[in-house]
Amino acid sequence: MTIFEKIIAGEIPAKIIYQDDLVAAFNDVNPQAPIHVLIVPKRVIPRVGEAVESDQSTLGALMVAAGKIAQQLGVSETSKGFRLVINHGRDAGESVPHLHVHLLAGRELGWPPG
Ligand code: C5P
Repeated sequence: MTIFEKIIAGEIPAKIIYQDDLVAAFNDVNPQAPIHVLIVPKRVIPRVGEAVESDQSTLGALMVAAGKIAQQLGVSETSKGFRLVINHGRDAGESVPHLHVHLLAGRELGWPPG
């Protein structure tokens, strides 16, 4: 079981801020911005580069959920805004082999990212 499956199952305490049939979202334990949410598929896809055709609805659900969460948190207006990040592999800094979309917001985000 991945650490995120344990969070979804309630075995590790975390506040689930959004969930639907396909995805769940909770606050990152080590936030890199005032708002730092992780959106994860309930059924594990290890990383985005390993997703296959049958994962399309789950991948879409992650994006739709991100938009809803941004709205819920009051950062979806273009005068504010948010960033979505997916890390795949060592060079990108991936540390948990359970696909997750980082939603970062609440401050001006530098570009290009590090
Ligand atoms: O993209 P990456 O794999 O590096 O992101 C993993 C994220 O999972 C990190 O931001 C880390 O803080 C978070 N995490 C968490 N709760 C855990 C373990 C990791 O929020 N129990």
